[in-house]
Amino acid sequence: MNPKISSSYTLVFSAILIICHAHSSNKISSPGDFLRDLNGTRKGDNAKGLIELKKYLAYLGYINYDNYPANSIHVNDDFFDDVVESGVKEYQNFFKLRLTGFLDQETVNLMSKPRCGMPDNLYNFSPGHGKVHRSISARYRLVRAWPRDKRNLTFSYSLDVTAAAKVPMVAALLKWSEISPFRFIITHVYDDGDMKIGFKSRDHGDGHPFDGKGGILAHAFYPPDGRVHFDADEIWAAEVRPGTMDIYTVALHEAGHILGLGHSDDPNAVMYPHIDYGQARKPFGQDDINGIRALYPNN
Ligand SMILES: [Zn+2]
Ligand SMILES: [Zn+2]
Repeated sequence: MNPKISSSYTLVFSAILIICHAHSSNKISSPGDFLRDLNGTRKGDNAKGLIELKKYLAYLGYINYDNYPANSIHVNDDFFDDVVESGVKEYQNFFKLRLTGFLDQETVNLMSKPRCGMPDNLYNFSPGHGKVHRSISARYRLVRAWPRDKRNLTFSYSLDVTAAAKVPMVAALLKWSEISPFRFIITHVYDDGDMKIGFKSRDHGDGHPFDGKGGILAHAFYPPDGRVHFDADEIWAAEVRPGTMDIYTVALHEAGHILGLGHSDDPNAVMYPHIDYGQARKPFGQDDINGIRALYPNN
């Protein structure tokens, strides 16, 4: 081959490789896809798909290889090392499963379910005090409150939100008004919304890519950020229907993050992170009510 042509081929090929690499490093897969073959895997195992499990656990804040420099060689491989074991245990601990440290059936079943993309284990914040006062029965987590003079929140939609989707979204906000001091007011200027609601797909520029259908459903950033993103690759419905995801149910959960609540480990709470397709709508649990009262104690 002519050396000139060869070198331009090499250049193009390298560019493609770089693009592919950049793409793959910021891509996560739905656990329904990669967990299928990982049932029973444990520390010391090499199994295809473990790299996807690592990305999933890191995405949800369960593992961080930066804290384990000695294990850094395993960041991008399919080896079940100590870091994965500790992450699996943390996950089991949050959800009150048996602390086996391996991918037992119960853990795989729960992980395979769709869920919110916000991390579970967050530092618990207490308004007005340095210390957290959680009773034994409290299973909510408080992340950050809106300032005292901010009780009217405006919300806006990006252009991809249909009229049919807006109805259950507004209903979810009204529901929070019943148990919190907040009022929600629509604004038609997208950038003016305290809450900015939209449907996004895969990598959409905020550092928290979606994973296609299944797995991660939505995320919402804590005060004062206010962005709420629904994964556009899910099959959304404005009512509860088998095989679809109910917009109201997910919007109710995400609005809890907008008000400053983290995840609850109480399966009866709206703020519990996992949800099933076609799942019946949940009323607020006592844990949600206790959480919002603890976050805004004086109104
Ligand atoms: Zn959530
Ligand atoms: Zn997003």
